[in-house]
Amino acid sequence: MRAWEKNIRQVVPYTPGEQPKVTDVIKLNTNENPYPPAPAVREALQNMDASALRLYPDPRADALVEVIARYYGISAEQVFVGVGSDDVLGMSFLTFFNSDKPILFPDITYSFYDVWADLFRIPYETPALDENFCICARDYDKENGGVIFPNPNAPTGEAVELSFIEDVLSHNQDVIVIVDEAYVDFGTSSALPLIEKYENLLVVQTFSKSRALAGLRIGYAMGNKRLIQALNHVKYAYNSYTMNTPSIVLGVKAIEDKEYFEDITARIIATREYAKEEFRKLGFMFGDSKANFLFVTHPRYTAEEIFEYLKTKKIYVRHFNRGRIKNYLRVTIGTKEQMEAVFAALKTMIGSEETRTN
Ligand SMILES: *Cc1c(COP(=O)(O)O)cnc(C)c1O
Repeated sequence: MRAWEKNIRQVVPYTPGEQPKVTDVIKLNTNENPYPPAPAVREALQNMDASALRLYPDPRADALVEVIARYYGISAEQVFVGVGSDDVLGMSFLTFFNSDKPILFPDITYSFYDVWADLFRIPYETPALDENFCICARDYDKENGGVIFPNPNAPTGEAVELSFIEDVLSHNQDVIVIVDEAYVDFGTSSALPLIEKYENLLVVQTFSKSRALAGLRIGYAMGNKRLIQALNHVKYAYNSYTMNTPSIVLGVKAIEDKEYFEDITARIIATREYAKEEFRKLGFMFGDSKANFLFVTHPRYTAEEIFEYLKTKKIYVRHFNRGRIKNYLRVTIGTKEQMEAVFAALKTMIGSEETRTN
């Protein structure tokens, strides 16, 4: 080991889902939206004037912040935007989790939380989900340095009620509680109304899933203006120009087209419910996902076998090969046609349980 090597920060990085270089695959491994972004986004992109890129972007991204605030009926001082919700969440860890006490998040959850905690040297504990993969509110009653969980949770897709979130908040008045709502638009109630009542609540959302803009990188946090101000101070202490000009312009267009957003979201929800039926017919087991993915397991085939088989059919799903979830696959909800291709492949591999029992 060279002397300078001991000064290098040692981190185990987050592993994103594979982005295959070929295009003729059915890609259901990173919870992207199967539909294109709103038509107004495409139009604005085509009409974009490259000379605007000569200038630095608006460091406050006011246009985007204001349109998000108006959409949700809150003030611009209650909105923080960042480069995807990963940036917003990372900034939030840095800004709000500075206690010597451990922060708390579930053992099975978004696998970036422990990476940020390690990166920023934040102590953490991970209370176990119960045997049905549900979060137990009582696990969050103990003293801690902050709380974060996704709703719906990832990769299980299970959602909690607003009363659950209020329960957790009422036991955690002295720390910041973050609800990561990456998948909230697919049928869960947002905790947003609670930010007026709980000044320590931060709600984080993203354009990557329900608004079909994973490639643009826009995420946002909503909360009490003192939390938003603290986030902005940390951001300006690190990098003032996080939001590039095209993201600000196109992000505004995406929010403005509410009708298109509602249409594609409803389609994904309908396809998810169809997919639940088809998976059930094939003997799969899964919880009641409220997200744009299902977290499935099969009693007779390992997740690994199914994963490898689907790959030979050019269908990519996600397999987290660890602990309690190693026998599960997370399957993003694609278009109806893509899901039909998945079930055609699975029928060849597994055969229909229905035909078996009839
Ligand atoms: C996808 C995802 C994110 C991050 O999405 P961005 O593309 O960075 O906005 C955050 N949290 C959860 C739970 C996710 O699944």
